[in-house]
Amino acid sequence: MTYQALQVGHVYPSRTGAVQSLFEIGLGIEKGEQVALLGPSGSGKSTLLRLLNGTLRPGSGELRFEGRDLAALSRRDLRLVRRRIGTVFQQPSLVPSLSASQNALCGRLGRWTLPQSLRALLSPSEGDARLAEAALDKVGLAHKGPARADELSGGQQQRVAIARVLVQDPEVLLADEPFSSLDPSLQKQLAELLFDVAQGRTLVAALHDVEMALAYFPRVIGLHGGRVAFDLPAAQVSPALIERLYAGERS
Ligand code: ADP
Repeated sequence: MTYQALQVGHVYPSRTGAVQSLFEIGLGIEKGEQVALLGPSGSGKSTLLRLLNGTLRPGSGELRFEGRDLAALSRRDLRLVRRRIGTVFQQPSLVPSLSASQNALCGRLGRWTLPQSLRALLSPSEGDARLAEAALDKVGLAHKGPARADELSGGQQQRVAIARVLVQDPEVLLADEPFSSLDPSLQKQLAELLFDVAQGRTLVAALHDVEMALAYFPRVIGLHGGRVAFDLPAAQVSPALIERLYAGERS
């Protein structure tokens, strides 16, 4: 089992009063499972992903990664775990002044010390250069290695972010509305690419697009108000359930 959440709750501290973002989340995610998270804005999808990648800690309950309580890990062990988890965000968050290849190589940063990172980025070894090249090739950007990230289109930047995850080669892939900022024709292409990259890995993706979630993911978890509203095989998610999940959402 990759993840096990036992009664997980989370609260954001805030000057205007604490915000409870998640309540008693209980779920298990098996190794190699592909799970979509759906739910209206503010339902807790991003918070759950940040808990899964170890950026946030539960305020209550327990979250286990491969049987180990994430909150009980030493900083070193947490760093080792985080190397094994790759995250793709809505904004690709590339370093604008670095080339596509250098950005792809940033996927290795968790494994390198600072001097190693600087050396690898400024004058990559042949092996590292080949690694970046292969990743860019896989995402259809073989010819764009030397291009600066800020000279690429939005879709190309998201492809570089996927190449960066490929270089990281994590066992778990988390995605937080990875295509929402792209136009619809690109969304489908990139979803297929992400699926290709996710083969053999555990994938948990928060998605805006219900149709895409139901078409691509065998299992769908609906979140509402920080709670699990349903957790079902995609084939059992009815239009009525979806309507109820998004009822009351302000757009
Ligand atoms: P989603 O990804 O489904 O839109 P989020 O996980 O971002 O939902 O948010 C869940 C809840 O936590 C919302 O009520 C949101 O306003 C609140 N929240 C999210 N991030 C913060 C933060 N940094 N500080 C305070 N509250 C936050």
